[in-house]
Amino acid sequence: MGSKVWKRGEAICLSSLQATSKVTGGIVVDRHVGIDLLATYETRSKTLRDKLGFSPEEAGVEALELVTSCLKRHESTKTVPAPTVEFLAEVDEFNRTAGGKNPILKEQSSTGVGEWAGYTCNIGKGCSHGCLYCYAEKMATRFKRVEGAEEWQEEIFREVSTAGCKKYPSTVMFPTTHDISPAYLPAYRVHLYNLLNAGNQVLIVTKPHFESVQAICAEFASFRDQMIFRFTIGGLNGEVMRHWEPGAPPIEERLLCLKHAFEQGYTTSVSAEPMLGGQKEAIKLYYLLEPFTTKEIWFGKMNNIGGFRKSADPEVAGQAKELMGLQSDDEIMELVEALRGRPKVQWKDSIKEVIAKRNR
Ligand code: SF4
Repeated sequence: MGSKVWKRGEAICLSSLQATSKVTGGIVVDRHVGIDLLATYETRSKTLRDKLGFSPEEAGVEALELVTSCLKRHESTKTVPAPTVEFLAEVDEFNRTAGGKNPILKEQSSTGVGEWAGYTCNIGKGCSHGCLYCYAEKMATRFKRVEGAEEWQEEIFREVSTAGCKKYPSTVMFPTTHDISPAYLPAYRVHLYNLLNAGNQVLIVTKPHFESVQAICAEFASFRDQMIFRFTIGGLNGEVMRHWEPGAPPIEERLLCLKHAFEQGYTTSVSAEPMLGGQKEAIKLYYLLEPFTTKEIWFGKMNNIGGFRKSADPEVAGQAKELMGLQSDDEIMELVEALRGRPKVQWKDSIKEVIAKRNR
């Protein structure tokens, strides 16, 4: 080290900590961490400048952050800590007293949830996120399980047990009709443990709370191969997101969760369904999130948005009309063209329908 002059492309071997310091000093390494950090830095910087209009300085700062995150991920995956004794005691106690039915059900549909998983698991009724477009709320209201959207926001645990859970033949998506709010978190972690400990593959779809993601990441490193985090991030405009998803974590918190799960060595994915903006915002979202996403980024339109156009609330009707305009078939096809060939991009059925219509 010291006064040594590094040649571009020279292979050296450093610990991750040394590598971090060299990276932040403008020198990057390859061999020890098994990833080409220089290429990562340069590609990221170029993408941010070319695709997202960042200045060279801003792009440099962001690119360094990505390199640091890659190094943290590398560091995390070197160790596989088992769940703590305290958490296992919590699991035992919970399972000892838990009663009720098995909450895991076979998914009947081949679209929606069925595109992602063969089984579903839910441990509560209601969701404090109160998304205006929530299908689970509409069903609960229709079948008189709740009085309406207001009551839906109360989170009530169901009496269920996953103690002695079996291994299911395909992925279990958990949850699908509520979220992992801090209120659901303690019970959620126990049920998640039961599912994973039985050998199941679990898809965790959530508008993520940092408290919840951090608590899951802390205990489940030994199950990393069986889990996928899929974070729902439908847009980047905080105001619009607050309109449609008033009780859900803000965009900044969701991005933090994605980065945290990535750095902790977990498999990460994003669901931009429903998209809450037009094609330009979706493209921006893709380029911002892609490096922290190890699996797919799904895009889909809001289902049944037409109904909101007739809402008595002028704000809801206005937002719906604007979104419909932003997601016309022409706009969707521009998105499809712009992201064509990107390996992580996946289209949900609502977008596949537009593509099929145009190809007829
Ligand atoms: S996060 Fe999901 S379950 Fe909760 S209100 Fe929103 S759409 Fe419904």
